Amino acid sequence: MKSEIVKDPRTARTSTDYWYEEAWKNAGKCVFCDLKDKYIIAEKDNVVLTVNLYQYLDGHLMVIPRRHIESLAETNQTEWQAIFYLLNLGVKRLHDQLKINDIYILDRPLSGFKTGKTVAHSHFHIIPYKPELVSWHYQEVTIHPEDLARKLR
Ligand SMILES: [Zn+2]
Repeated sequence: MKSEIVKDPRTARTSTDYWYEEAWKNAGKCVFCDLKDKYIIAEKDNVVLTVNLYQYLDGHLMVIPRRHIESLAETNQTEWQAIFYLLNLGVKRLHDQLKINDIYILDRPLSGFKTGKTVAHSHFHIIPYKPELVSWHYQEVTIHPEDLARKLR
């Protein structure tokens, strides 16, 4: 039996009982293979621009291929072009409609679960920037830039 969300999704990450993880784990299926039309903003070539049901903050959008792939590397050229188009469209809509100019685009391209990725199905975040949400803690750099370039060539 499909469980319906009865709680207000705006409270999933911020309420004292933090029920976000419970919500997606209890879905019993891949939630990104079953996107709801009411949250979708635009679609192109089987890739969608959608709101994030469990937003980190107001204006949090996602771009998700319809096809269940788990890594950026699995996208085909048509999907990649649609992803690029929809990422730009999402940024433009946030700018034009919500007057948001400072935005991050985030992907966890491999398994990425240590980074906070919770749904395996590949997805890209469009996240309005707020210093309270994202603060950089710069680390000691041990690899000289020239060595790094040499290692990665
Ligand atoms: Zn999926």
